[in-house]
Amino acid sequence: MSIKTKLIAYLCTAGVIAAGITAAELSGGAAEKGRNAVETSASVAADKPVVVLDAGHGGADGGCVSVNGVPEKGINLSVMQTTRDILTLLGCEVRCTRVSDVSIHDKGIEGLAKQKQSDMENRLSVINGSGARLAVSIHQNQFTDPKYYGAQMFYKADSAESLRLAETLRERFRNHLQPDNERETKPVGSELYLIHNASCPAVMVECGFLSNPEEAAKLESPAYQQEVAFTVADGISRFLISEGEGEQLT
Ligand SMILES: [Zn+2]
Repeated sequence: MSIKTKLIAYLCTAGVIAAGITAAELSGGAAEKGRNAVETSASVAADKPVVVLDAGHGGADGGCVSVNGVPEKGINLSVMQTTRDILTLLGCEVRCTRVSDVSIHDKGIEGLAKQKQSDMENRLSVINGSGARLAVSIHQNQFTDPKYYGAQMFYKADSAESLRLAETLRERFRNHLQPDNERETKPVGSELYLIHNASCPAVMVECGFLSNPEEAAKLESPAYQQEVAFTVADGISRFLISEGEGEQLT
């Protein structure tokens, strides 16, 4: 199925997140209720879930670099922007840490290390100052051995909701893009500042390995970036829709 077909299918259900319709209600044949709820959305708008999307790196910090010499920062931004657009259409209030090729450090700070620290603190402020329901940080991976490939999720340790978000995203990557991806979701602590200090469920998505020539070529293509964005948006929307069901992970 092309991304356009997937998007059309999704847009047919646009508003279900904002309307607070649960997956159980939809599967129970309550689509009519959903439509009515969307139509009377004046009172619903205030309940839009806030989602923070973070495109990793930016400005002088390019992040890791592909085998073709392409830094991850631009790939992260492209994936984030499409994810933002899809989630907005689906009824989310999306806040972004950056929307262009910049570091968001405070003005007047000298030195790359201090700028990076300020940049990370300001990204965290966007997450923790927005009443976010969840935060997703988008990155690309690399490793010395070029054979490794595939997406992997890193979630805030000791946070059941972060684990649920990570597992939902992992399952969507397997479903849409990488059926043979066996990478486990991994908990992270203070080594990942943004995820560790987020006051909401938080996951870092490593979309793939720029050190793998085949995967790097895909990740550098706008079409595949859109596929990844759709996958991330799908995972986030499913996480939000299934909220409150008391879903247990197995
Ligand atoms: Zn990165």
